Amino acid sequence: MSTTQPTVLVVEDEPAQREVLAYNLEAEGFRVARAENGEEALILVDEEQPDIIVLDWMLPNVSGIEVCRRLKTRSETRNVPIIMLSARSEEVDRVRGLETGADDYVVKPYSLVELMARVRAQLRRTRPATVGERLEYEDIVLDAETHRVTRSDLPLKLGPTEFRLLSTFMEKPGRVWSREQLLDRVWGRDIYVDTRTVDVHIGRLRKALTLHGGDDPLRTVRGAGYALG
Ligand code: CA
Repeated sequence: MSTTQPTVLVVEDEPAQREVLAYNLEAEGFRVARAENGEEALILVDEEQPDIIVLDWMLPNVSGIEVCRRLKTRSETRNVPIIMLSARSEEVDRVRGLETGADDYVVKPYSLVELMARVRAQLRRTRPATVGERLEYEDIVLDAETHRVTRSDLPLKLGPTEFRLLSTFMEKPGRVWSREQLLDRVWGRDIYVDTRTVDVHIGRLRKALTLHGGDDPLRTVRGAGYALG
């Protein structure tokens, strides 16, 4: 999905709890994928590539702990933040939850306000552009809340696609993105777009970034893709 709308995977076997959580996350502007058990969660993680997972501890068959352990041992999913939900409040369980690699831990019954704050806190770390953060790279400043971009304090005019491309790059300077990864992130996985379209928009972004002078900060990595810096 687009950079401005992160996907949250909600894994909860209680239908009423799952729906309340999903409803509130959608109201906050998130895209929500729902799983009712651990097996489904593991499949949906590959299909939906969520930005964050809210995972119930007590699930039938494959427990939340086991789902967490499996996701944190796979390199493709290791960096997806996981917030565990549990009715267990004892310190030993909390420690066990965090030991399996969960990034945060919320005890039921939880306040939705608190849970939303924790979801945002995790995304601020991993997907800062999606939660209205201000990103900086050298003399380029991107304000995700107002959608304004400046370079050396001069405003830059970017189309929506170029804005999403730049925020993707600015979240992880130096990272090399393949065209396919950029398509998934910027255009969304459900839409068919030719990979050459990426090159066209990269060209527009480069033009916009260098309009008032300054070096081209985007790097073409032959056979691999593009990177900022
Ligand atoms: Ca449960």
